[in-house]
Amino acid sequence: MSLNAVTYEIVAQETPNVIRNCRNCKRSTEYFCSDKFRVNANQKIVDIWLIYKCIHCEGTWNCPILSRLNVNRIDPILHQKYMNNDKETIWHHAFQISKLRKLCDAVKNDINYEVRKEKSESVSDEATIRICCKYDFGLRIDKLLAEILDISRSKVSKMAKEETFLLYPTVSMKDKVIDDLQITVKGNRRVFG
Ligand SMILES: [Zn+2]
Repeated sequence: MSLNAVTYEIVAQETPNVIRNCRNCKRSTEYFCSDKFRVNANQKIVDIWLIYKCIHCEGTWNCPILSRLNVNRIDPILHQKYMNNDKETIWHHAFQISKLRKLCDAVKNDINYEVRKEKSESVSDEATIRICCKYDFGLRIDKLLAEILDISRSKVSKMAKEETFLLYPTVSMKDKVIDDLQITVKGNRRVFG
């Protein structure tokens, strides 16, 4: 059996905002990630926060990343990344959604993302979609499939009932997209153009 494999990369365009109380606004409001760490060193003891800013005022919230850690216990390369506001490191922390949920009232994970088609291989009447997704922000498989195949969510659920899709690993269509998820679409190669 030859496979028609297409890789789609889900590229987040922004980090999730969080909902918290703002002291200036005197109400629960939305904060965005400032893309900056705050690193405090007191002798050998280091504290690191990721700074969030209220979208309405100058209010900030420091999201704790490392607390009261001896500098010798931090990997020097990672320490440098915190000092330099390394984007990759910032995004890694800004997508720790379950941690953020515990620290905030809510996390707005309905962020903008781009779906990039990476490559396609030989054609057959079966096609496999491979998902590459670096950051987890709770995107549902059925929503993404509707987007990739350019069909409605109800059409996706109808096709799922007809067992058109084979998911590997075995998860439900209502589950969240995970990195390296593979979806085989039976007898539906037209969608890959
Ligand atoms: Zn505010």
